[in-house]
Amino acid sequence: MCSSHQACQWMLCPQCDLMTQLPDLKPGTKANCPRCETTLTTNWQEPQRRPTGYALAALFMLVLANLFPFVNMHVAGLSSEITLMRIPQVMISENYSSLATLFLLFVQAVPAVCMVVILLLINPVSLPLPLKRSMARVLFQLKSWGMAEIFLAGVLVSFVKLMAYGDIGIGTSFIPWCLFCLLQLRAFQCVDRRWLWGHIAPVPALPARPIPAISGIQQGMRSCGCCTAVLAADQFTCPRCGTGGYVRRRNSLQWTMALLLTSFLLYIPANLLPIMVTEALGNKITSTIMAGVVLLWSDGSYPVALVIFIASIMVPSLKMLAIVWLCWDANGKSKPYQDSERMHKIYEVVEFVGRWSMIDVFVIAVLSALVRMGQLMSIYPATGALLFAVVVILTMFAAMTFDPRLTWDRVREKSLEEPSIEGK
Ligand SMILES: [Zn+2]
Ligand SMILES: [Zn+2]
Repeated sequence: MCSSHQACQWMLCPQCDLMTQLPDLKPGTKANCPRCETTLTTNWQEPQRRPTGYALAALFMLVLANLFPFVNMHVAGLSSEITLMRIPQVMISENYSSLATLFLLFVQAVPAVCMVVILLLINPVSLPLPLKRSMARVLFQLKSWGMAEIFLAGVLVSFVKLMAYGDIGIGTSFIPWCLFCLLQLRAFQCVDRRWLWGHIAPVPALPARPIPAISGIQQGMRSCGCCTAVLAADQFTCPRCGTGGYVRRRNSLQWTMALLLTSFLLYIPANLLPIMVTEALGNKITSTIMAGVVLLWSDGSYPVALVIFIASIMVPSLKMLAIVWLCWDANGKSKPYQDSERMHKIYEVVEFVGRWSMIDVFVIAVLSALVRMGQLMSIYPATGALLFAVVVILTMFAAMTFDPRLTWDRVREKSLEEPSIEGK
């Protein structure tokens, strides 16, 4: 249905900008970029029915997860039971509405909205085209901000932290929440960006005859960052999805460095200030991130101490270093040609692990909602937690504003002897 030299056959790799002719994909197979191995597109079996099923099931589980008690705790005859919605309520009552908002947004609202948008977009629902376009745009922007599974990991870590103090039990809502996490991930996975946009509106015609195995920038073309259409380099707005863009993200390195510097400045107080306050039998103990790790380690919970150490201390600092390295490299300061592939791996890891640093923030959210035993023991969030959440968000933005294609642009000098391109 799509013969060669038609727009639907061609794609610029979003990561390395290589022009590639897509093969005819059998259902259930995917096409990878020949240079950087990024998945370009996946031809899912039953592209409509599967995501619909997963998204519907996920939404149903989300409703169940909010209806019943989530977890409970028994200490010395006292018991405490919370629902999911109790977590933001407690934070608001402690004057941490900002943390409550982050929790509601990242853990509940974003995944739920995404599921609804997936359902509306892939099923024959008659909606005006502009609305469909903006929904699809939002869907792919929101993808990295859904943190349901990271919250679940945070819940498990808080279980281990609390086991020393009392009996922890799961409520009726716990299993539905686990299923919600899995189902929403799966629903997202089954929606191919390229297929979805093809479903909404046809690909715009190619600006020129594409040359395979050469960067788009060298043949005067750019990839639409949202719908993957191949556009002329100087075409600012994509005719299909309406997203604006340039051949390379404008001032990418400046933005990345600015966001990184800000997050670094906040990272210092986030580590020095307490992230939570524990009140036990009249004693007030404040603890920083590092103190929490040390305490877990001395209690013998080595795996959890390691998880928190890696997620809260190693990942953010390594991520900052990696982004500095990426910027330095993209600026052409390091040895050309050889390390594009290595830098690409680093970028992929940075993009993937960044969100997981949120785990400690969610641990504090669960602890402060669940551990409310009055005089016996109570846990409250503290300023460090909010600062740390902001650091994670800023480094996520820093990774997003970095244009990975810059890493590969140095490779282009090598192939300059190849036929030059007409018209550009
Ligand atoms: Zn590539
Ligand atoms: Zn587009």
